Amino acid sequence: MLKTFAKSYQRLVPDSPIYSKYDGTCKVCGKDYYKGELISPFFDHNYNFWRHTACYQLFFLTLQYGSDCNGCKEELGPKTYGYWSKHNGIWCSPCGEKLFPNVSVAYSQFQKHNNFIRRNRKGRRYGK
Ligand SMILES: [Zn+2]
Ligand SMILES: [Zn+2]
Repeated sequence: MLKTFAKSYQRLVPDSPIYSKYDGTCKVCGKDYYKGELISPFFDHNYNFWRHTACYQLFFLTLQYGSDCNGCKEELGPKTYGYWSKHNGIWCSPCGEKLFPNVSVAYSQFQKHNNFIRRNRKGRRYGK
């Protein structure tokens, strides 16, 4: 069921949280969300899953644009490192780390690690 769901929605990345049309499972907290709840994408390699909009999936990255931290409201300039979660905004490193461990975090190493896993899983793909 989840596999079918992932396949049909893998390219859909909405610009803001959406109201779910289906029941499903949040990839961050592992709990269910229900039809009508606000959900946001959860990125897993080339596939998008869903999470409660309030369950952040943080990415540690270099910010393209300056923005205020959701935690301390300090302004973070462009080209500084911070945590970003689609639809949720950004956090400076200390504030982002305060959100642990109730969030899912992706570092660049995580991406490499995923590639590695994928290579070793040849032939097995979601949606088959
Ligand atoms: Zn959740
Ligand atoms: Zn902060």
